[in-house]
Order: sequence, then structure tokens, then C-alpha cells
Amino acid sequence: MYDLVIANGKVVTPGRVRNCSLGVRGEEIAILSEDKLEGKRTIDATGKVVLPGAIDPHVHLELPFQGTISADDFYQGTVAAAFGGVTSVIDFAIHGKDVDILDHIQARRELAEPKVVVDYSFHPSFTTETQQNLDYVQKLIELGMPTFKLFLPYKREGFHVGDGFLFKMLQETHRHNGLVLIHAENADVVEQLMQEQEARGKVSWMQHYDSRPNFVEGTSIATSIELAKAAGSALYVVHLSTEEGLNHLRQAQHQGYPIMMETCPQYLEFTKDVYAQEDGLNYIMTPPMRLKKDNEALWSGIERGDIPCMGTDHCPFSTEQKLLGRELFSKVPNGGMGVETLLPYMFSEGVNQGRISLSRLAQLLSENTAKIHGLQHKGSLEVGKDADIVIVDPQLKRTVTAEAMHSNSDYSLYEGRELTGWPVITISRGEVIVEEGELKAERGRGKFVERTISSELLNAAPQGGLA
Ligand SMILES: [Zn+2]
Repeated sequence: MYDLVIANGKVVTPGRVRNCSLGVRGEEIAILSEDKLEGKRTIDATGKVVLPGAIDPHVHLELPFQGTISADDFYQGTVAAAFGGVTSVIDFAIHGKDVDILDHIQARRELAEPKVVVDYSFHPSFTTETQQNLDYVQKLIELGMPTFKLFLPYKREGFHVGDGFLFKMLQETHRHNGLVLIHAENADVVEQLMQEQEARGKVSWMQHYDSRPNFVEGTSIATSIELAKAAGSALYVVHLSTEEGLNHLRQAQHQGYPIMMETCPQYLEFTKDVYAQEDGLNYIMTPPMRLKKDNEALWSGIERGDIPCMGTDHCPFSTEQKLLGRELFSKVPNGGMGVETLLPYMFSEGVNQGRISLSRLAQLLSENTAKIHGLQHKGSLEVGKDADIVIVDPQLKRTVTAEAMHSNSDYSLYEGRELTGWPVITISRGEVIVEEGELKAERGRGKFVERTISSELLNAAPQGGLA
């Protein structure tokens, strides 16, 4: 007798889609079987797709940024995740200039612990180029946080670190089985262009794009790849948005370097034309929306398998917060909601449009994400893994509205957009947390996940290390 049985679904396992039943015992997957299984509770998944719970490796909850705080706290942000079929999120611990990273992580855990409804972790993020921080790399890896985010832009916001520190971090993480994640933009060029755009003195949201055009990402990625090669280390680029950047990354992958990246749905969907809209400020995030050719190049990268995983950069602000920048594009808080639409968007636009298979979808949203970010007990429907499961109705059509979404923000980038293929049940460690549009989760039930990345993955080209 199993605690929970999901019967008759189309179950997406690594490398194979099976019509079978899945049995859960306690918090883990206990069996996959073509035979009938007995359960204390049985969910009939006939006609449904059973996927591993999605992992969003890029969210910013309760983030103090640009004079305000991102609109979703650890409760509302993880509730939105649960409704979107996302069963783990990785947030960022970005310490202040005069704050010790260990203290900051402790404070952030205290903030998150009583609120989270799905499992979570942090990417430590260094904003000072100190020996102390370099010395913390080993310790943080031992504490289960092997991924280090560095912001190469954001000089004004106080997050920026330079290439010298990046190089040292690549060497240091390589020594201890860690991975550097970069937000790749050339800080000096951005600053120059921002000043030029600000000097023009008029508010056009297009100035956001014009201050951070494509080559600003391309040149930063090219430099960072050369630094990683010299350090003998792996490298991961967050929220890849340009064809230029993708081309540099692909070339390094083909040369055999362990170079990885994520992109986000917004960079597949929107172009900079959104900045010409009246509500253009709502689309201000960094990197900015790009060009049609970038949408297409990134989709191709997903289809070919160059891009191993997806994130969202979920960092919502309300309209009122966005209006803090009503006079000047550079004062608009950067970010938007995304965690709840990640899976439906990729199901609708990827699977249902015939761009990717169900297996590829599971790799992009779960399997590869778990491998790269070191969530060893998550990411796939296999015996012994955490029973993090999402049941998707592949035919269910819903129109996205901010009102129907669970983020605290009052607008969605996808407002009015119909997507086909939505989660109907979300299960986290064997517990049904969302069912029939209702939240079943206790506040604070989510757990901090200690992560470890396999050294094989960090030392092989992605084709070798990833499915
Ligand atoms: Zn981000």
C-alpha cells in the first residue's frame, strides 16, 4: 500500500515517456509500474501528463532593490510557484557592502523559513571584492550552496564586481566544486550609455533598451568565457537574452568547455517594441526585451539543446512601484512576475507548438536544472527521488490575467494571453499542495535544500554531462 498513487498518467521519466502509475511512500517516489497500484489515496491522471515538479533557479523574493522591495514575499512568491507547478525555487542572497554574507544568509533564512510553501535554496551573491568572500567559497559549498552569483553590471545599485574578482571566483569555485553564475553586461559601457540617454532628458521607455543594447551582453559573455577557459572552470550565464551571447556560448560548448546557461520565457516572447507601448515601463527589466531575431535564436538554442535550462527572474513590482520611475527610465524598478507562467508558457509555446518534446520540457524545467544547481534528490520521476510532481492537463486553456495569478503584483506581462497546458495538481515531497485551484499547503512547510554539484558536470562539456 502506497501513501499516494498517481494512476494512468503519461509519466515523463528521464529519456522515456511511459503510460504507467507512480507510487509515493512518505516523501519519496517508491515505484513506477504498469501494474495497478494500491494507495491510501489514488489520483486518476487519465489524459494528463505527469512531470517532475519544475525548479525555478532564478527568483527574487522580498528583494530590496532600487529604493523599494520586490512585491512578492517568501509566502506569496512560493504560493505563485506552487500554482505554477514549481516545487523548488532558488533565490539570491545578495549581501550589502558592510554585511557579512553568512549573517545575510542567516537573516534571509529567518525571513523565508516561516513563509515558504515549496522547497528553496539561495545562491550566495558577493557584492564586495574581498579576500574574505573568496575564503567563504569553500565554507558556503560545504553548507550546501555551491552556486555563486556575480553581477557584472549594476554599478549604481552597488552590486557590481569587476573581471578581476570574477576571475578569482572562477579559480576558487573550480577548486571546491562550485559554479559561478554571471549576470553578463559590460558595466562601463552600460554606464556610458545610461548617461547619454539620461542627458537626452525625455522619458521614453525605449531608452532602457538603448542604454543596454545587445552587444553589451555579447561582449561581457565573450570576456567571461575567456576568463573561465583560463581558470579551467565551468561558467553559467543567467537570463541569456541575445543571439550574440548565445553564439559565444555555443562555440565554447562545441570546443568542449563546461559552459551553461539559462534563458527566461520573456526573452523568447517579447521584443523591444513593448517599450513603445503606453505601459512600456512594466516591461522594464534587465536585460531588456530584445529583437525578433533573438527570440528565434533562443528558441533554436532550446530546440537544439544548447540551452540546458530555464529560469524566470521572477522579481515583480506593482504598478505603483514601477511609477517610482515615471520621470526617468533608469529609476523604474527592474523586474516582473514569471514563476507561475513558466511551465504553462513552455508547455503551450514549446510542447503544444511542436517545438520541443515532453522529455525536453522535463529536462529544461527540472532534470538539467537539478543537475546544474545540485539538487540531487530532485528533478526527475525516479525511484528514491523526492516526490515533487506536477500533473498537467495538456488541453486546458486559460487566459493569463494578473487577477488570476497569485503574485502580489497587479499586472502580468502576459495579460490577456491564452496558454494551453496548465498544472492541475502540484505535489511537493508527497504532499498535495495545490489541487483544483486551491492551495492546500501550510505556510512554512517548504524546506531549505542543501545542494551539491557533481564534479563530472563541472568538468565536462554540457553534451557529456547533461541529457
Ligand atoms: Zn535576477
